[in-house]
Amino acid sequence: MKINYRGNYEQVKTAVEDANEILYSKEFYEIIKQLKSFKCTKKTPFEISEIIEKTDLEVEVKTYKPKWRYSRVLGYFVRSKPRNLFLNKRKLYRNTSSITNTIIHEYVHAVDNHYDNTVIDFGHNCGTFKNTAPYTIGNIAEVMIDGNNIEKIDSRLEEFQNLETIHCLTNTTGNSITYLEEDLLIEDSRID
Ligand SMILES: [Zn+2]
Repeated sequence: MKINYRGNYEQVKTAVEDANEILYSKEFYEIIKQLKSFKCTKKTPFEISEIIEKTDLEVEVKTYKPKWRYSRVLGYFVRSKPRNLFLNKRKLYRNTSSITNTIIHEYVHAVDNHYDNTVIDFGHNCGTFKNTAPYTIGNIAEVMIDGNNIEKIDSRLEEFQNLETIHCLTNTTGNSITYLEEDLLIEDSRID
């Protein structure tokens, strides 16, 4: 399994199961490869698709409680814990396909880091979330799980562009990822 979870949230179990199914399906990679380009990267969707498909990276999903109760952040990835993806416990009461979207999004960051941990090859640090690899690839996963017509993927992805969903917040300082304050306040003891 590319993504593991040992916790007790049923909706996370389902979302992780779906995420693995997506990551092992040919269709997922074919859809990514058909895209023309992503922002914030020099790599083509074809190349990024290959990197994700061929990676041997296994990660474990963890949940956390943000100190700031009203955090809008759904999850995050940090380089200091390269084999973990973190989900905000307060944001688990939504469709599991949306949780899968966040998991795939964070997994794209983890794969990027695993591929070359000295640079961000395909993130969303160029002032826009739109049409970046983590957001678009996460959205593709959600569309697939919802059973939407994949032929209409372009218009579905456009609908997503108009939602300001924050899967994770990152700031750029040169090439390194620094996290916004609310994310830095996570208490380790509350991570399970
Ligand atoms: Zn992100």
